[in-house]
Amino acid sequence: MNVLRSLIVAAILAPLSFVAQPETPPRDEATETFVRGFVRFLAYHEAGHLLMGQIADMNNNPDWSSADREDYADKFAMILLQPDADDPDGIDEIISAAGGWLQVDSSIIRNEPHAPPQQRALDIICLMYGSNPVAFADFAELVDPNTDCTALYQAMENEIDEVFRDYSGQTGQSINIVYVAPTGGMEDAHQFLRDSGVVEDLKDDIEAEFYLTNRTSIQAMSCEGKAKSDTFYFDTVRSANPEDDHFIITLCYEMIDARLKYGMRGFE
Ligand SMILES: [Zn+2]
Repeated sequence: MNVLRSLIVAAILAPLSFVAQPETPPRDEATETFVRGFVRFLAYHEAGHLLMGQIADMNNNPDWSSADREDYADKFAMILLQPDADDPDGIDEIISAAGGWLQVDSSIIRNEPHAPPQQRALDIICLMYGSNPVAFADFAELVDPNTDCTALYQAMENEIDEVFRDYSGQTGQSINIVYVAPTGGMEDAHQFLRDSGVVEDLKDDIEAEFYLTNRTSIQAMSCEGKAKSDTFYFDTVRSANPEDDHFIITLCYEMIDARLKYGMRGFE
């Protein structure tokens, strides 16, 4: 197991200890992989909300609590991002997404609490392990032995296949990408997001597998003063005619900036 992975696996097994560090830690390759993995997971989680709304109309299902929807969006992200056993970069990014949740309880990283962050971390590991328990045997010790991760993975994969994926060979609406010029000192975060390719990958992945019926945008921007700035969002802008509804994922540079500055604190 490489260094990044073993640090995060160790942290999942034992609570993180956060040391007050006034200075911004150095940005090295491990930090960049870590932040990219977390940012990618959150962007794909919002895509889960988008597809639930646009394709299956699940966001208005009265039988679902908001916690159910968040859990489903996490699982959706995991299916879309599930790395092959021979894709070390993909595995590192998924492990980083799990590790990112472990930092959420600290005083510096704030987050809209969907599920308890530690649980979200373990759920990610469970689905990754469940996708291929032989290849991912290293992660067996992190998984609750009473949970059948393989069955959970298969059930979600099948459901996305049956309810969401499109095999008609036709392409739906293409996704519009907007990078709003950064303000408020968010230049680094903006550049990091562009260099990461996360937004372009997400557009390509959705367009390849799903048939979008509506106008859909991914916008990256400085959110300070316009929205809660330290997270990502999904919104539907409704029109009189539902066919004209506009589905929008917003990625706030501030969330990326905070993660880059916080780095891998707690994993040292
Ligand atoms: Zn969510």
